[in-house]
Amino acid sequence: MKAILKENAGPGFIMKEVDKPQKLGPRDVLVKIRRASICGTDVHIYKWDEWSQSRIKPPLIVGHEMAGEVVEVGEAVTQVKVGDLVSAETHIPCEHCYQCKTGRMHVCKNLEILGVDRNGVFTEYAVIPETVLWKFSKEIPLDFASVMEPFGNAIHTALVTDLTGKKVLITGAGPIGLMAIQVAKAAGASLVITSEVDPLRIKMAKENGADIVIDPTKQDLIKSVYTITEDGVDILLEMSGNKKALEDGLKCVTMGGEASLLGIFGGSIDINLDSLVIMRGITVYGITGRRMFDTWKVADELLKSKKVDLSKVVTHVIPFDEWEKGFELMLNKKCGKVVLNLD
Ligand code: NAD
Ligand code: ZN
Repeated sequence: MKAILKENAGPGFIMKEVDKPQKLGPRDVLVKIRRASICGTDVHIYKWDEWSQSRIKPPLIVGHEMAGEVVEVGEAVTQVKVGDLVSAETHIPCEHCYQCKTGRMHVCKNLEILGVDRNGVFTEYAVIPETVLWKFSKEIPLDFASVMEPFGNAIHTALVTDLTGKKVLITGAGPIGLMAIQVAKAAGASLVITSEVDPLRIKMAKENGADIVIDPTKQDLIKSVYTITEDGVDILLEMSGNKKALEDGLKCVTMGGEASLLGIFGGSIDINLDSLVIMRGITVYGITGRRMFDTWKVADELLKSKKVDLSKVVTHVIPFDEWEKGFELMLNKKCGKVVLNLD
């Protein structure tokens, strides 16, 4: 079977023939991958940045976002059967640590990530434990089911707060920020302001329903937000991983408001917590992954009911063999989500 591999330590990937997985563990499932989507993490591994060098042990089949079909199940599998269409939570919890036992599997101490710590899904057949499979509703197109995992990030970040009737600022309109715009709207936010610096993504933020899009390189974000809202926004969803966006975003939050942080800053950053957070009584949430599986249920319902439409987030669906084109698009940020089609 074909697979996209990080074959050796160093930049780039290679597509090559590898053996189809033979033996399934008792709770393992063999999934025929039908769609797989490219995440920023895959790009980090492609570039072989510092984080990848410390974490990835080649050779490794990369990729973690997917939609596929169950083709074989291990002897103890009870939750899925051959023919089921599934997406996957990519954070594989141990199910026995303190966090797992207390309803917080998304921060499992012994977490293993698909396509990072074990072979992933940029291949024709992948072995995935049944614990993390999500049988998505049949109304959801495969192209959208493939991106349910990052969509879950948007949902998790947005819905730790109650957005009903609230003014929201989303900093960063990458794929996850774009999805968050729609989630915030669906959840009843009264105003969704988005800040973004990239022209294509500014356009996409508008297409995905942002009420106001501000380019902080052209307009003063804080001044603009206070002019529009008078008191500032109730909630900040930080989805850029940019220090300036976080700092200015926090300043845009009204005293006593909330900030939900998803963006990864890639190291320590220097901000004044006293004046930005503590003295202004801001509640801050750190978001990692998706809640298992309440986030997935919400993702499924929002897609099934079409309260969220990902057709303006998934910008490219390309044949698996043309994966290099997909990475090119991601590297140059000329896209929303890029989905590889393996059918
Ligand atoms: P992305 O990099 O495609 O999107 C980030 C966007 O922020 C880009 O469009 C960029 O132009 C914009 N941006 C940069 N500087 C900005 C600024 N000063 N003001 C406003 N916008 C600015 O990433 P994504 O895939 O959409 O993910 C969003 C963030 O979430 C990333 O930082 C990613 O690493 C992180 N992430 C975190 C988790 C988690 O579990 N915590 C999971 C997935 C992704
Ligand atoms: Zn655990």
